[in-house]
Amino acid sequence: MSLKLIFSANADQSDIQLCEDYWAYVHDGRYIEHIEMLCKQYRIDYHTLFSVLAKCQAYLDDVHCEYCGRPYQLYVPADIPYIRKQSSWFCESCISFSGGQLTVGR
Ligand SMILES: [Zn+2]
Repeated sequence: MSLKLIFSANADQSDIQLCEDYWAYVHDGRYIEHIEMLCKQYRIDYHTLFSVLAKCQAYLDDVHCEYCGRPYQLYVPADIPYIRKQSSWFCESCISFSGGQLTVGR
C-alpha cells in the first residue's frame, strides 16, 4: 500500500508509532474496534488519540488530483478502498477553483 505519512515538527517517536499503527488499519468494517484497541494499547483516551493523529497527514501517493497532481489526502483509513475504486479524482482546491466544473469521477 502506498500510503505516505507526513508528521508535524512537534510529533515525537511515540506519536509517530501511534499514527503508523492507526493508518495500518485494514478495511474490514471494524474501525471502532481498531480505535479502542489503539487506546488500550497506548493507555490513552479518544481525545488524546485524535490529538496525536492531528499531528499527522496521510496521503495516498498512487491517487493524484487529475488536474494539479496533488496526492489524495486521507482523513480516515476506511476511505482507502472507496477512493481506490474511483477512476479519477480532483482535489478540493481545483474543484472550487473551477467553480464546480470539475467533478469527482464516477
Ligand atoms: Zn488539484
